[in-house]
Amino acid sequence: MNWIERELEIWADATLERSLRESSPVCEAPGYTESRGRLLLNMSSNDYLGLAQHPGIIDTMRKALLTEGAGSGASRLVTGNRPPYSHLEASLADWQNREAALVFANGYMANSGVISALVNRGDVVFSDQLNHASIVDGIILSRAEHARYRHNDMEHLRSLLQRYQDKRRKLIVTDAVFSMDGDQAPLLELASIKREYGAMLMVDEAHSGGIYGLRGEGLCHELGMQNDVDIHMGTFSKSFGVYGAYICGTHTLIRWLVNKARPFIYSTALPPSVVAGISKALVLIQGEHWRRERLYEASRLFRSALCTAGFTIAIGDSPIVPVLVGDNATALRFSSALESAGIAAAAIRPPTVPDGTARIRFSLSAAHTDIELTDAAEQIRTIGLQLGVLHS
Ligand SMILES: *Cc1c(COP(=O)(O)O)cnc(C)c1O
Repeated sequence: MNWIERELEIWADATLERSLRESSPVCEAPGYTESRGRLLLNMSSNDYLGLAQHPGIIDTMRKALLTEGAGSGASRLVTGNRPPYSHLEASLADWQNREAALVFANGYMANSGVISALVNRGDVVFSDQLNHASIVDGIILSRAEHARYRHNDMEHLRSLLQRYQDKRRKLIVTDAVFSMDGDQAPLLELASIKREYGAMLMVDEAHSGGIYGLRGEGLCHELGMQNDVDIHMGTFSKSFGVYGAYICGTHTLIRWLVNKARPFIYSTALPPSVVAGISKALVLIQGEHWRRERLYEASRLFRSALCTAGFTIAIGDSPIVPVLVGDNATALRFSSALESAGIAAAAIRPPTVPDGTARIRFSLSAAHTDIELTDAAEQIRTIGLQLGVLHS
């Protein structure tokens, strides 16, 4: 086992080592986190709508816990399919205006399970270079050919579709909003390409569900191209503030997944209290449009404050705002200086992002106030100047 120590040293020397640290929620202040005894503005959470501490969701979960117990006890195909599931899946299908929905334990299992159920040896998956790791792992599991196209490069995608014309099944898969960059996939163009080449289209709405669309349906609805999406994937771990994931599509797709998606079949069903909590979050997401409005406002304000400070920030309204730093050591120093200034914002390093693009990934929440964000931008500017990331 000595090799592990040696490999870890190499990893640490390249400033790539990660370690765990504790972080607690602050119930009375949902935009904050407590770490090492200090209160920090939480700019590293995916709880975009500020629902993770919502009393209504917590109350629903507590009641379900009392009637349904702690765990589900089995896979859904055995005896784990508790009553809260059918209610949630019917609500999801209705919300997305789809025939059917299927809940998975989490987004990682949904992506890896769905992709490996849809394609196999002899097939090909066209996947954006910046897609989430769970998509990449699904492709590896499936044994299909992995055709990675350059980020959002539709010409490159077309040329790969030409090259792999002879493959049996073709699946195009993309994040709707990219998790480490906050930019959007060209979904309208992807819809026309998928029709042109007779491919299936799968869209991962992990960072856009709850945020875009009049009822938070996601970016595909906002753009009106949802009917071109064959496999719609979303999570309950980000905007929903809970845990879990889902797939929406036709009855036939869902029937296939119940029979073929191994992470669905061979894993214990989510605790029923979690499923009940998700249903409550779904009601809030559909009805409380002000949370989305607040998030757009926060995003516009924070982006423009950083631009004014001299950072290069993409225009947009996604709550994911990366500040590119470049090298790993500077990114780590930036993050710890932010912590000293009362801000929790993680340094994101390779292999999560491509080499040489280490960054601080700020994520916003509807719970952040204008003053908190303006103050944060000022601190970020000061630290940027100190570390030479910004030049005055
Ligand atoms: C977070 C994320 C996932 C995984 O979801 P979990 O529920 O956290 O496992 C999948 N896809 C994307 C794009 C994500 O950002």
